[in-house]
Amino acid sequence: MLRRNYQAAPTTVKVRTPRHAPGPIPSTLSDHLCIDFVNSRFSDHTGSGRVFDRLEREEWRLWFVGRCGFVTASPLDARVHAELSDLRDLLRRLLLSGRRPDAGAVAHLNRCLAGASRWWQLAPAGRGMELSVRWSDKGWPAVMAAVAASYAALLVGGGISRVRACANPDCSFIFYDDSRNGSRRWCDVAVCGNLLKVRSHRAGGSRREPRPRSRRPS
Ligand SMILES: [Zn+2]
Repeated sequence: MLRRNYQAAPTTVKVRTPRHAPGPIPSTLSDHLCIDFVNSRFSDHTGSGRVFDRLEREEWRLWFVGRCGFVTASPLDARVHAELSDLRDLLRRLLLSGRRPDAGAVAHLNRCLAGASRWWQLAPAGRGMELSVRWSDKGWPAVMAAVAASYAALLVGGGISRVRACANPDCSFIFYDDSRNGSRRWCDVAVCGNLLKVRSHRAGGSRREPRPRSRRPS
């Protein structure tokens, strides 16, 4: 389940909505690089209209490069930044549509996949041996290749049918629905689920309203 941690804003800054700013690193991850990558740009789930972009933050970039299995990444110049943004927009559209990508999208993905080469490595693992795929490049092209490969694996393996948008209309998070009956609605039921429940009670004029959780998603 995705959880998004917000850091408290400095008390000297008067910010009414939201009262907290998101931290650079999400506290809980999906199992899919492409979903975490798409979720790096997200709207304030409370409906303030604010949009946050972790790609702009060096802490997130270093963290995400590490999440891809690399130690360092090349500097992020304007061209690479634009390529990452384009890939993120494309993947959001493809993941939410669930359909087969058109020829233009496939060509875009193949350019990303061709941006880095991989090789096989045989190594001891415990009492046995392990065969793993290693990336020969470590820079942003390899990150984009790893992210594109993550999407391709969801597409080819059929897991894309389990990708959902959060049911909170103000929340832009997407998630992988790993519930048994495929009925999960929220990126995080304790955050967006609870928020919408509170609003529903208020709209219904209930005198005994549930209290929203203080924890903010990120
Ligand atoms: Zn949500």
